[in-house]
Amino acid sequence: MQVTILSGKGGTGKTTIAVGIAETIENSIKIDCDVDAANMYLYYKGNEIKKESFYSGKIAEINLDKCIKCGKCVRNCKFEVIKDYKVDSLKCEGCGVCKLVCPVGAIEMSDNHIADIIEEKLDTGYLIRADMEIGADGSGRLITKLRNKAKNNDEVIIIDGSPGIGCPVIASITNTDLCLVVTEPTLSGLNDLERVLELINSFKIKVLVCINKYDINLNMTENIENYCRENNIEIIGLIPYDDIVTKSINDLKPIILYETSQAGIEIKKIAEKIFKIYKEEYL
Ligand code: SF4
Ligand code: SF4
Repeated sequence: MQVTILSGKGGTGKTTIAVGIAETIENSIKIDCDVDAANMYLYYKGNEIKKESFYSGKIAEINLDKCIKCGKCVRNCKFEVIKDYKVDSLKCEGCGVCKLVCPVGAIEMSDNHIADIIEEKLDTGYLIRADMEIGADGSGRLITKLRNKAKNNDEVIIIDGSPGIGCPVIASITNTDLCLVVTEPTLSGLNDLERVLELINSFKIKVLVCINKYDINLNMTENIENYCRENNIEIIGLIPYDDIVTKSINDLKPIILYETSQAGIEIKKIAEKIFKIYKEEYL
């Protein structure tokens, strides 16, 4: 079973909820597909069991022992990323023009390392994540690679999806059983929710919604509830504002481990409902 937790934008509490849901199940596999802001791992003291490099495209490198400083590469690089006969690896587009124009073969194109894919054994299952190079962007191909690391259908897999509606999000939801969209009661929260629901619906994946901090703006919560009702989308939970969430983020401890947390109690109920729906519809 695979559940992807999404939000239309960052900062809605998506990871808090994803970790909370994951911790209600013994030995769940957690996949952090929010690779540009990966922070699931902060909640766990895992032991690294596997690490592999992930490459995307090429970058140019100048061999200064061969370079005769003719300046042809500098003049022909449309992206202006060669300065003092050094290529800025963070900005090189890998087009290869510099290599073509170099008269002495001083330029080599090498694989562009953009991340390490890390698998960790946790006390409560496994975590699969990417450790990105500075300046690198998460791609759909990287997300797919992360997800392919956990292909056992017997396991419960909780995916912390990428925010937004771009290619990494599509890779986060493809072939998932169920999506939970986290939103907040603001106008931008509703706009972002509409966009991400449109995307999920185009993939015909079962979708549920929860409103985080619903009680900070009850009028907007009602608007979101009306919108979901009109579009036949189930709101599976209303999570109240709770100071203990801030404490759990500071302590790096899953919110459901705080017994008095009202947010944690609601997240546990959401997890129970998700698994009930999954059993009713898929088993
Ligand atoms: S590969 Fe293209 S972008 Fe990179 S340095 Fe060469 S010409 Fe510039
Ligand atoms: S084109 Fe080749 S030889 Fe000329 S400056 Fe660039 S690397 Fe050096």
